[in-house]
Amino acid sequence: MQDAFGHRISYLRISVTDRCNERCRYCMPQEEQAWFGSAEILSYDEMLRVLRVGVSLGISKVRITGGEPLTRPGIAQFCAQVAGMPGIEHVGLSTNGTWLGRPGQGGGTLADDLKRAGLASINISLDSLDRAAYQKVTGRDLLAEALAGIDAAFAAGFESVRLNCVLMKGHSESQIGPLIEFARVKGALLRFIELMPVSVTEVLGEDQFLSAGEAMRLAQAAAGELRPCPQFRTNGPAVYHELANGQRLGFIGAMTNLHFCESCNKLRLTSDGKLRPCLGSWLEFDLREALRGGADDAQLAQLILSVVERKPKEHDFRNNYQPNRRMIAIGG
Ligand code: SAM
Ligand code: SF4
Repeated sequence: MQDAFGHRISYLRISVTDRCNERCRYCMPQEEQAWFGSAEILSYDEMLRVLRVGVSLGISKVRITGGEPLTRPGIAQFCAQVAGMPGIEHVGLSTNGTWLGRPGQGGGTLADDLKRAGLASINISLDSLDRAAYQKVTGRDLLAEALAGIDAAFAAGFESVRLNCVLMKGHSESQIGPLIEFARVKGALLRFIELMPVSVTEVLGEDQFLSAGEAMRLAQAAAGELRPCPQFRTNGPAVYHELANGQRLGFIGAMTNLHFCESCNKLRLTSDGKLRPCLGSWLEFDLREALRGGADDAQLAQLILSVVERKPKEHDFRNNYQPNRRMIAIGG
């Protein structure tokens, strides 16, 4: 699949739930949530059907996300079905990590179940190593659980464990050094993500924004000189730099990197069955109606292709896009 601007689409992010056990300030409002009803959420079988049709059009990589994907029952079995689908080469999962160390169904942890299911990589959100600061950002006192989850991911044998830190002025400055040291000791790949205006919250103003460039300067002040390593890439838009000791750090400059969208290869399926060609655009197209209205695979494929045709050249974040739709609904 290729869009009008030459983006080759091979990557589908699937948000399996809009629910979450945390309340990150940049992601969703703190007050009581109006979650989707169970009938509004796609069943796993519906998600697998969309994916199967997507694979026939060139999708080969999947990231399972949310909301907090581990809060949806049956997530490990779903991951196994995704990873076992012919044509799928790589399955990753994004999580806040707090449930990874919980008991799974196979006698070990949930992380062990996910590894056995065939997941290749895990991205774990970690904005802070300070308990009070973690609680302030995530709305929950769950730092110990998140750290236990990171250990569980390593103990399960995941080769690729990435830590994602969203940058916020007034918060991240003091966390960058400790996070770099923590990632070095654990052997995790740490990435810093610029705050994007993808929520309904008020915390997304200029005064909260800390750029990837500023984070790079703070990282150098804390850990020494950084050199670009353009030859190192992961599936996404992160740009990597290397410390003298060989530790790599990723910077995801959604707002300040003007080339951010050039290599975009993604589509997003929301938990309520909308296909979004871009995280930073209002465009979304309903697949649920087609799925439940008896569309056959050829019709679904046509629908997916028509969404790809409407993929924008680049996101609309710099116009302070606010989707009036929670990040958890879209799937970060
Ligand atoms: N709950 C999981 C987690 O926290 O990793 C998966 C879903 S979360 C929406 C996916 C990623 O989006 C996380 O790394 C989170 O930090 C990031 N995110 C959420 N809101 C964001 C925002 N406004 N700007 C930048 N990143 C954001
Ligand atoms: Fe939940 Fe992840 Fe959003 Fe935080 S970023 S509120 S953990 S979905």
